[in-house]
Amino acid sequence: MDCPIEDVTKYVDGALTGAHRDGVELHLRQGCLPCAAQVAEEREIRSRLRSLPSVLPSPALVRRVRAVLRSLTPPAEPWGVVVMAALFGLLYALVTPELVSLRPGLH
Ligand SMILES: [Zn+2]
Repeated sequence: MDCPIEDVTKYVDGALTGAHRDGVELHLRQGCLPCAAQVAEEREIRSRLRSLPSVLPSPALVRRVRAVLRSLTPPAEPWGVVVMAALFGLLYALVTPELVSLRPGLH
């Protein structure tokens, strides 16, 4: 029995539709114990993550990160733009409450 390991995770996330979802459900109904265990474990992890409190950055941290972002000058090298974009995304994630939350998606 071939296990759709990656699809099981997507299934738990509710990210599968149609034939993909039906295929995983059929696989589970056929009694695959490893996949059933994976579903149970991933649901338990998601449940625990949802029960964690949200973590908000302090206003001081937000001010410091914004100051750093304002002080950055665009790089001259093309690859530097990619690095700057990645850095900006990381810093933005740190100061954005919705992304800082340890909760997984609200779906
Ligand atoms: Zn399986």
